[in-house]
Amino acid sequence: MGVLSSFDREAVSTLRSAGVLEEVDAHAIDMTNGVIVVRCPDCDQRSDAERHDQVLATANGGRDRFHLLPHHGGAAVAAPGSPLYPEFDLPGYLGLQIREAEGLKSIKTVLLEVHAPCGKGEASGFNIVQLITLMFLGKPNIRAIDPTNEIVCRVHIDYGDRKRTYFVSRAKWMAFWNQRGRELWGHLFEVDPYPPTSLRVATVRRSGDRASVEEEDLHGPTPIPMDEASEGAMAVLAASRRGPSDTQLALEASRGPRTD
Ligand SMILES: [Zn+2]
Repeated sequence: MGVLSSFDREAVSTLRSAGVLEEVDAHAIDMTNGVIVVRCPDCDQRSDAERHDQVLATANGGRDRFHLLPHHGGAAVAAPGSPLYPEFDLPGYLGLQIREAEGLKSIKTVLLEVHAPCGKGEASGFNIVQLITLMFLGKPNIRAIDPTNEIVCRVHIDYGDRKRTYFVSRAKWMAFWNQRGRELWGHLFEVDPYPPTSLRVATVRRSGDRASVEEEDLHGPTPIPMDEASEGAMAVLAASRRGPSDTQLALEASRGPRTD
């Protein structure tokens, strides 16, 4: 059984304090027709994760209808470039499985989850910050399967003395990345997964008959809205420009000694 690394523990604490990882019970999830679940099959976490599923289903008046699509590394396998399994097209395979599940079972809610400690994540050199990032980079492709689906992202943490499941929204993750995450964890990525977008603002000033234009380049803490697909593609494209060996995302090159 793995032990939560000091890096992951601190990162989770930071994300909890910042309100990025939220109590999942506070969020209503449409479970009326069941849920497609993409998570790591970790046998040491399965019972707790499934117990949480049951609590959610009960709280939401939903049915006990969990359609499991387990993969080592959980939803991180959905990331473009398949960084956890570079020899296989896991994102494509997972997409096919989700599409089939929706068609076979008429389920419109997809639950994506990553967790720590994760044996596959650690074996691949990824900490929880990177696993969450991979999950969000893969989310647009899952969204594209059926834009009417509801997609919920969660993080399961085994602290050793307790286990918790948190909800994480992309909007809050993005906002945090722009405000603090880039500075804290930007070094974990060879390419910024959420590169700041330049926003030039022109101000016209008049003085009598004359007008002058002043331009200001803003990189404010608020993320520039962009659709998920373009955002995910940006990170992947930026990485793939450097050559075939780098097509596994910026994360591939960041593997190495963990910072803990
Ligand atoms: Zn795992």
